[in-house]
Amino acid sequence: MLARPASQSVPHSMSAPSPDPTEPRCPGCGAGLAGFSDETCTGARCPSCGFVVVTTNFNRSSFDPTRYDVWIHGGTKDRPAIIVSLANALCIGVVNARAILDTGAPIAQSVSAVEVERLARILHDHGLALRITPPFPWPLD
Ligand SMILES: [Zn+2]
Repeated sequence: MLARPASQSVPHSMSAPSPDPTEPRCPGCGAGLAGFSDETCTGARCPSCGFVVVTTNFNRSSFDPTRYDVWIHGGTKDRPAIIVSLANALCIGVVNARAILDTGAPIAQSVSAVEVERLARILHDHGLALRITPPFPWPLD
C-alpha cells in the first residue's frame, strides 16, 4: 500500500516576484532552466523535474570555418635554439628549419582551427610559441 499525501499544497506568497518572462522555463513544470555546455553539447536542464534539452555545441574549434596562418614565435629562446626546436618539432631537419625562419614565412598557411591546435600542442612541447593570424579565438593549452 502506498501512502498518498492528502494534498501537496505549495506555500504561496502574494509578494513573491513574478518570474522573468525572458528567462527560459521548463515546459514540464515551469521552473527556471539552467544552461550547461561542454566540449560537444550544449543545452538546458530543469533542476526540479529533470527535463533536459540538448543539442550539438557548434561553438567550438572544429566548427570554425576561419583559415589561419601560423608563424613561429621564439619567445625567450635564441635563434639557434629556435632552429633546433623547430627542426625537432616538425621533423624537418635543421637546414629546413633555418630556411623557414630565414624567409619569415608562416609554418602553416590557411589551416583549420583544429590544425592550429595540433601544431600548437607539438610546438609548445618543444618550447616554441605561435603567432596566429587572424587572432585565434579558441584556448590553446
Ligand atoms: Zn521541470
